Amino acid sequence: MKVLLPEILEMLWEVWEQNPGAEVYTGGTDLLVKLREGVTWPPALICLERINALRQIWEEEDTVVIGAGTPHTALIRHPLIQVEFPVLVEALKVLGSPPIRNMGTLGGNIATASPAGDSLPALYVLNAEIVLTDAKGSRTLPIHEFITGPGQTGLGPREIITGIRLKKTAPYTVSRYEKVGKRKAMAIAVASLATCLRLSPDGRIESARLAWGSAGPAIVTSPEIETAMSGQPLTPELLRGLIPAVEREVSPIDDIRATAVYRRKVAANLFLRLSGISEGGASA
Ligand SMILES: Cc1cc2nc3c(=O)[nH]c(=O)nc-3n(C[C@H](O)[C@H](O)[C@H](O)COP(=O)(O)OP(=O)(O)OC[C@H]3O[C@@H](n4cnc5c(N)ncnc54)[C@H](O)[C@@H]3O)c2cc1C
Repeated sequence: MKVLLPEILEMLWEVWEQNPGAEVYTGGTDLLVKLREGVTWPPALICLERINALRQIWEEEDTVVIGAGTPHTALIRHPLIQVEFPVLVEALKVLGSPPIRNMGTLGGNIATASPAGDSLPALYVLNAEIVLTDAKGSRTLPIHEFITGPGQTGLGPREIITGIRLKKTAPYTVSRYEKVGKRKAMAIAVASLATCLRLSPDGRIESARLAWGSAGPAIVTSPEIETAMSGQPLTPELLRGLIPAVEREVSPIDDIRATAVYRRKVAANLFLRLSGISEGGASA
């Protein structure tokens, strides 16, 4: 199979025009598995890895823009990402194994749109915006609009993700990503929960963002639970009182990794564990 290696975006649009059926990839950790299993067999592949513009990280006032082709390891090690978005760093640290994190990229994880994708709950609680670019220009979509279902996105024909825009974290924000898998390492999530809580100086929750992974056909968020937490002190009683709402909101499935009943229980337990969140993960 032909593999094309453009080095700048202009070259990408040209080679794509000449090879209209070609599929793009970056790290290849998802795509090459699909090729090996015969799930997809395009006439040509276009590798985005050499396009330097896709691997940059920069600041624009109160926003950080991450190039979609940035590998997970580079993000985990980046001082700005560590300071501003600890929840994303925590999520990427438990994604796959070191070789997968060296090759796999944030854009690839988003485009795969798996409800078990580790970066996604973190990106949902950070209200990430996805920058999409084609030969004619760019547009931006909030992540919850970009991902339309399991494995489904709003990517247009001959369009790629070029960047991820994240607003810098407000003071007194605590965040956490927790994943339960079948094993400690190299495990796809049975269920996961990303949380971002903004606390007042007296410890009340000013605003809450929660996103569960592997708990439904897409990432599960709950405005109802977030509103119920606002203005309240973060106590075990508050969390216990909201468990029926958590169990209502998640809609997990049975699969080879776990039953729906077990996943629902794990999703609730991850929520209960938030009572200890202010002891770690604070970014003031
Ligand atoms: C052994 C193993 C373990 C894994 N463990 C985990 C895990 O624990 N958690 C987890 O979340 N994932 C896991 N994965 C999945 C995978 O590693 C990640 O999803 C990774 O982030 C994909 O990035 P990539 O650059 O390799 O994607 P690629 O394989 O290059 O691409 C994946 C898909 O995204 C599209 N794509 C890639 N880049 C772009 C772009 N810039 N714009 C538009 N579309 C694009 C491709 O067309 C393709 O459809 C694992 C994979 C393997 C093989």
